[in-house]
Amino acid sequence: MNTKLFFDTEFTGLHSKTTLVSIGFISEFGKTFYAEFTDYDKSQVDDWIQTNVIRKTWVYIYDPDTNFGIVEKNSWADIHVFGDKDFIAPRLRDWLSQFESIEMWSDCMAYDWVLFNDIFGSAFDIPKNIFYIPFDICTVFKEMAINPDINRESFACDAFSENGEPLFFNEQGERLIAGKHNAMWDAKIIKRCYEKLCVLKVDLKTILLEASNWENQMTSEERSTLAYFDARLKVIDRIHEKYMNQI
Ligand SMILES: [Mg+2]
Repeated sequence: MNTKLFFDTEFTGLHSKTTLVSIGFISEFGKTFYAEFTDYDKSQVDDWIQTNVIRKTWVYIYDPDTNFGIVEKNSWADIHVFGDKDFIAPRLRDWLSQFESIEMWSDCMAYDWVLFNDIFGSAFDIPKNIFYIPFDICTVFKEMAINPDINRESFACDAFSENGEPLFFNEQGERLIAGKHNAMWDAKIIKRCYEKLCVLKVDLKTILLEASNWENQMTSEERSTLAYFDARLKVIDRIHEKYMNQI
């Protein structure tokens, strides 16, 4: 069976010498793995990365002096590993081996994909059950005529607060605290975006299919009447209601 795996990374800068700080994975059925690297290049960390990335890592918050460790089923992930690349790579390989075949999905993934491959050495060394072509939700946004720069949290959230802040809840209805730029949180947002895009696509296809069935039943004379144009406008209204109002 083919499994979609949504992932995100945090790293020390947008350049070719960048190093991994963290990586988070969530499968389409909700299995999670989160790793934090203790061997990232600290000389590359600027104020922005320190504030927005490093301070949102588990190691920074709970145990800054730690070097290696594995935690199972904490509030962040099913498996949470921290250590250097040599420590994390075999544990990640082991976790990935539970899936028969894997399709990788991310967001603006130019750096993420290379850094993921680099955990194992090179693109030729990644686990054999991973399809070598990765996929990106940016392209899906664009193909759905949605601005690919749309705010991911606003697109994927469950509701908005009175002041417009995106809100997220778990299955028990408890509010989740947003953690943008934490790789595990961002991977979950990528999954939510993908799922919402799928729902919108189904809604759109349903409306267009109904419209096409209806058009096919009309005679050419009926198609030249004003009623026909009115009906087509109603189709556009339905698309607007179902689709455009949500983005
Ligand atoms: Mg991120």
